[in-house]
Amino acid sequence: MGQTIQIEKANSLKEKPDVSNIKFGTVFTDYMFSSHYTPEHGWETPTITPYKNLELSPALQSIHYGQSVFEGLKAYKSGDDILLFRPEENFKRLNRSLERLSMPKINEEDAIKALKELLQLEKDWVPDGPGQSLYIRPFVFADEPFLGVRPSRTYRFLIILSPVAGYSGAALDPTSIYVEDEYVRAVRGGIGNAKAAGNYAASLLAQQKANNLGYEQVLWLDGVHQEYIEEVGSMNIFFVRNGEIVTPELNGSILEGITRKSIIELAEYKGYTVKEERVHIDDFLKGVQDGSISEVFGAGTAAVISPIGRMNIHDTDYIINDNQPGDVAKDLYDHYTEIQYGRLEDPFGWVQKA
Ligand SMILES: *Cc1c(COP(=O)(O)O)cnc(C)c1O
Repeated sequence: MGQTIQIEKANSLKEKPDVSNIKFGTVFTDYMFSSHYTPEHGWETPTITPYKNLELSPALQSIHYGQSVFEGLKAYKSGDDILLFRPEENFKRLNRSLERLSMPKINEEDAIKALKELLQLEKDWVPDGPGQSLYIRPFVFADEPFLGVRPSRTYRFLIILSPVAGYSGAALDPTSIYVEDEYVRAVRGGIGNAKAAGNYAASLLAQQKANNLGYEQVLWLDGVHQEYIEEVGSMNIFFVRNGEIVTPELNGSILEGITRKSIIELAEYKGYTVKEERVHIDDFLKGVQDGSISEVFGAGTAAVISPIGRMNIHDTDYIINDNQPGDVAKDLYDHYTEIQYGRLEDPFGWVQKA
């Protein structure tokens, strides 16, 4: 990349939908960004074109062997401005994921420039209702038509955009979790800390199982001992124990969430004590039972904070904080989202204009 971005204008634009009624990830904007990689030329032909289907070979490397990684972030409307929250963290992580899957790195600054150019073109797509935003999905996949097992020679980097409806009920409606002790999401040394498409494929069966049993999310245990808590669904997990905030320490199989990192920084700034430690499921359960754990919540870009009100372990249900959002979760959620939407001072330099 580094070159000027070619823009191919659309002949006509789509009608803007009523954002409050759309389902996540079903509606896409008028334009997308793409760039192509070859070993000879690196990343080239950065282009913004109308959003359209791709033409791909049936022997596509990423279909057969899964070299495919992605990112997820959001753009927020603040008056006439469009705000991004720590986008450089997403492209840094994209590069870590690319490295882990033997894929070529992108230039982080060029990627942010491309994203901003795309957003300028699509600014009318950034919704401004409560909790609404424009979801940004950058992704890279191998596109060499070749069935041999080795890294692909060629790749594509795309960015697509999709408006997000915000919340239907209250923002912090508690969810329920099922502690999964059969399937694991990732193991140390694997690709659990990369945002790889394959991690999601590995998680779907347990997610379906949890849903069939009446729970919304899976609580993942570590893949080696199946004893230490790792994540909840595709969010990092936090809990409040004797007034202190605790989250599992990064261990190579946990995804390094940008929300996780930012919640830790914000909580410390606000005067909370935050501990990153290995958490045994038995200690966690004991804390829930004796009330020393007063709140549990997930953290990720999609919901920011998602309180957990009900948990199933070994066929027994436990209710956390009367199935209500806790004070710490509310405090952090409010502060965090006010910063994201530019309504509160940002002492961290997290927010930037697109
Ligand atoms: C993306 C993701 C998260 C959350 O990361 P954020 O950067 O906070 O959105 C957590 N766990 C998994 C498995 C993920 O894929």
